Formats: sequence, C-alpha cells, structure tokens
Amino acid sequence: MKVLVTGGAGFIGAHVALHLLEAGHDVVVLDDLSGGYEENVPSGATFVDGSVTDPELVDELFRTHDFAHVFHLAAYAAEGLSHFIRRFNYTNNVLGSVNLVNAAVRAETVERFVFASSIAVYGPAQTPMSEEVVPEPEDPYGIAKYAVELDLVAAQRMFGLDYTIFRPHNVYGELQNLADPYRNVIGIFMNQVMADRPMTVFGDGRQTRAFTHIDDVAPLIVRSIDVPEAANEVFNVGADTPYAVVDLAHAIAQAFGVAEPEIDFLPARKEVIHAFSDHAKVRRVFGEAPTVPLEEGLRRMAEWARETGVRDPIRFESVEVLRNMPPSWTAGLTQTV
Ligand code: NAD
Repeated sequence: MKVLVTGGAGFIGAHVALHLLEAGHDVVVLDDLSGGYEENVPSGATFVDGSVTDPELVDELFRTHDFAHVFHLAAYAAEGLSHFIRRFNYTNNVLGSVNLVNAAVRAETVERFVFASSIAVYGPAQTPMSEEVVPEPEDPYGIAKYAVELDLVAAQRMFGLDYTIFRPHNVYGELQNLADPYRNVIGIFMNQVMADRPMTVFGDGRQTRAFTHIDDVAPLIVRSIDVPEAANEVFNVGADTPYAVVDLAHAIAQAFGVAEPEIDFLPARKEVIHAFSDHAKVRRVFGEAPTVPLEEGLRRMAEWARETGVRDPIRFESVEVLRNMPPSWTAGLTQTV
C-alpha cells in the first residue's frame, strides 16, 4: 500500500518510515530538511524534498500516488521557542497540516490520517494527563497541535476522513537531532557532554518528564492503521516513569562514563513543571507491550551519539519576538518582522 510520511527525514518520522517499509508498504517521504537529514530517510523509501506548506506540491503528490494512509509527523516542534516564532509556528504546523487534510479529503483514497500531536495540548493540566481532560494548551506549539486535532475531527464528521491522533511526549533515541539547542533535553545533554561542555539546566532541575524511547512509540504509530478500534481516537503514548531533569543529567553522564558531571543551572523558564500522562487507553486498545527502560535507552542512544559525533548547535535565526526569551537563547539574535 502507498503511504505518505511527512517529516520522514526527522527523528520519529524516519523510524516510522522504516517500520512501514518493514511491514511491506510503499513509502513516500516528504520533508523540507529544516530539522531532519536526508541520510535518515530509510533506503527503499522515495524521498521528496519539499514543504507541507506548499499546497501545489502536496496536491501533486496526492495526484501522483494513491495514498492509502498518511502519517503526518512534519512540524517545527520546539515548544519553548514557539512563543517567539508564533507566525512561523502556525504557518508550518497548522497551515502545513491543513494542506495535507485538504489533499487527503480530495484524494478519496486515504483510509487513515495518522497525526503526531503532543502532550503539549494539555498545558498545565493535572498529572497524569488523561485523554478525557479537555486540552488547554499554553503555548503556540500546543495550540497549533490542538487546532489540527480539532480540524481532523471536523474533517472526519464532514468528509469521513478517518484519523488516529497520538500525543507522544519526550521521545528520545537514535537519529534524534543533536544540533537542536531548543528541544530534546537528552540530545542537548549528550551533545554537551561529548563536547566537554557543562549540561545546561533551566531552574533547579526538579521539573519532571517521562522520557520515552523511540522503540516504544514508532512501531505503535505504524500499527495503528491495522487496528480498527484506533480509528477516530486520540491516544497518549509514552513512558510512565517521571524523572527529574537533574537526575536525568546524572544518568546521561553515567552513560558516557563521566563520574562527576558539570551542570550549569540557568534561570528558570516559563514551562510546565510536571508533565506525564496516563496510558491506560493505549494499552487497552493496542495491548501491553514491553518497554525500554531509561538506562537501556540512554545506553543505546549514547552509543549512536558517539558514532555520530558532536554537532554544532543550529540556532533558529528568524525570531519574531525577543522579549522574555531565555538569555541563553538570545545572544547574537535580531528580531525579524
Ligand atoms: P524532528 O524535528 O526530528 O522531525 C520533524 C521533521 O519534520 C524534520 O525532518 C523536519 O525537517 C520536517 N519538517 C519540518 N517542517 C516541515 C515542513 N514544513 N515540510 C516538510 N517537512 C518539515 O522532530 P521529531 O521529534 O521527530 O517529531 C516528529 C513529530 O512528532 C512532530 O510533529 C512533533 O511535533 C511530534 N512530537 C515529537 C515529540 C518528541 O518528543 N520528539 C513529542 C511529541 C510530539
């Protein structure tokens, strides 16, 4: 079956594309390489270098291939930065998604539209966050994800386009972009340790996140198209055990054999303090599956990161608002209008 994977040169998308190929699907990857690498696209997939924000290109792809499924993972996903790049965030993450929904509706061949949302939709909701909680996102990234979720529900009601929405959180593992200084704390810490720089922690590091290895997420996302009960449902997906960021820093140092890690505590930034979600629903529909413990996942990723080597952090240049931006992000940046 022909399947479109947007963001398939990125971290989660490349793993999803690989699992789809292994399951025998014919995979087309659409990615503009803004946050991914062409070498991540698994061999066997057809790679198209372009943006979901280009409606003509998206339409042409749907005309050329009779896609049976769409896995929409392309996004600019730096949640903390999204306050400062609102226009870019909504253009890329909302309008880009809308182009795909329009094309999927017109094509009439798409059986399932699978969308990578995020637990960012919940905002400061009570933990563990459950799918029954009405989302109250508190940053533009979460708002964009929730807007697309609502749009998919509307398109399902109006046109019968079936969807499955996943809300992953803090996914880490091999192929993660080590050059992104704004998100993915595990990749940031690993890059810093390998460069002999201190690990930078916002605030006192007692904020908690449940870190999820990619192997606990990508296969499940792929399997959703074969699970009829997953149609038109939303699922939290990810690990259950929350870790304090400062404890994570120590676990990463250990994975690299560093006995006494250097940690640079920066001023706290405005962020959700505790974020972890309830996974009863995904277990009920998809069944129980073994998960990768953090120490094991960190070991695997550290091995891959050592082979990949240190990457120079790539900064986002077109910031729209500098006000209230963490000082560690602003150095040398100018505001664009
Ligand atoms: P990633 O940055 O590694 O991958 C995203 C990919 O999308 C990149 O390859 C990038 O080049 C591509 N992309 C961005 N804008 C594009 C555009 N306009 N057109 C085409 N391609 C574009 O990020 P990831 O961690 O793999 O995240 C994948 C998806 O999962 C995203 O939608 C993200 O919001 C979501 N998600 C990720 C996490 C996580 O912890 N990693 C958690 C929740 C949700």
